[in-house]
Amino acid sequence: MNLSYWEIKSWLTNVDFTIIGSGIVGLNCALQLRENHPKADILILEKGILPQGASTKNAGFACFGSLSELISDLESHSEQEVFSLVKQRVDGLKLLRETLGDKAIDYQQLGGYELFTKVDKALYEECLSQKDEINDLLKPIFNAEVFSFKNNQFGFKNVQDTFGFNQFEGQIDTGKMMAALLQKAHQKDIKIINSTEVLSFSEDANSVKIKTHHFEFSTQKLLIATNGFASKLIDENVKPARAQVLITEPIENLDIKGTFHLDKGYYYFRNIDNRILFGGGRNLDFKTEETSEFGQTQLVKNKLEELLKTTILPKKDVKIDHYWSGIMGVGNQKKPIVKQLSNNVFCGVRLGGMGVAIGSIIGKDLADLVLI
Ligand SMILES: Cc1cc2nc3c(=O)[nH]c(=O)nc-3n(C[C@H](O)[C@H](O)[C@H](O)COP(=O)(O)OP(=O)(O)OC[C@H]3O[C@@H](n4cnc5c(N)ncnc54)[C@H](O)[C@@H]3O)c2cc1C
Repeated sequence: MNLSYWEIKSWLTNVDFTIIGSGIVGLNCALQLRENHPKADILILEKGILPQGASTKNAGFACFGSLSELISDLESHSEQEVFSLVKQRVDGLKLLRETLGDKAIDYQQLGGYELFTKVDKALYEECLSQKDEINDLLKPIFNAEVFSFKNNQFGFKNVQDTFGFNQFEGQIDTGKMMAALLQKAHQKDIKIINSTEVLSFSEDANSVKIKTHHFEFSTQKLLIATNGFASKLIDENVKPARAQVLITEPIENLDIKGTFHLDKGYYYFRNIDNRILFGGGRNLDFKTEETSEFGQTQLVKNKLEELLKTTILPKKDVKIDHYWSGIMGVGNQKKPIVKQLSNNVFCGVRLGGMGVAIGSIIGKDLADLVLI
């Protein structure tokens, strides 16, 4: 692209910090850099016309782990590690709510439920028997019992009679959250260039040269917040994981309120605007879903539609309005990767399925790594 003198001077000269990715991590990183460096020139490069990964695609659960998920995590992590993971998520949600305010993100603490399928009796019984132990582990964070069991008041079918209930789980409006973050970034004089994919970068002693498909320029520090797309630019243990979602048309007298996890969290649904947003099914074909290409598969679509009709809304004739997908960044550990990669390059990636909760903190931690 043949840029003008003005474009080069105002956008691409004397750039102190360049962030790749305008998801929840990239935007929070930029806001914290602004706090730390009030006069710095901060630029975000984003490949999508809007943020184009997970942050504008997710289900908006403000959650920190269901009972079965925490029990399963205890098989591969120590008690201290699981405690720290939950604490980070709780602290992250607090930071998100403080940064933007509950009204701007439409935060509602309607509670979170975990449903166990009829065939998952063993898991159901394990959760019942370990509930007190998990509540004791989390007591120092909440000063209250987090998990209890509730009766099926919603008329769901093919599930065990009672559900795990988490009184502290909430939900947000994902679109409002991202719009508010983008607005805040603009207010703080952070420049964002959309539709610009970073293809590669190279480093010398004092700067990093960045190549996009439109232009090349230099920056003092580079911060990579590309999560599920990270392996295209850096060599870290993070893989893409696609998640498919559907939303129904508005449903009259919908009394399902809250966030719901089904089948060990592989499926999740919630109410929004009198509709049901329903996603999951990655476990049906992990290999195919290990991709950074957006899209749907018939296998996952069919299963989501079947569960919607047979389990979630068995008595209603509902129509599906829309499907979409998003790309997460996952690895063999739940802990995100926040680190300095070289003199002038840093990354904050691998947010898994918890980026609403931890994205603000990871963005802040990434910015705080940089010393100038
Ligand atoms: C369907 C779905 C449901 C989810 N539900 C929940 C939930 O309910 N609760 C929860 O806590 N979490 C949920 N998550 C996870 C959460 O959305 C993510 O963990 C979080 O959004 C990650 O934020 P991020 O900023 O790290 O990544 P992203 O939002 O993916 O941001 C990365 C950005 O980098 C850009 N980018 C990538 N490569 C380049 C490049 N080379 N050049 C320029 N730009 C580039 C991308 O376009 C993207 O905008 C869900 C995710 C999905 C997909």
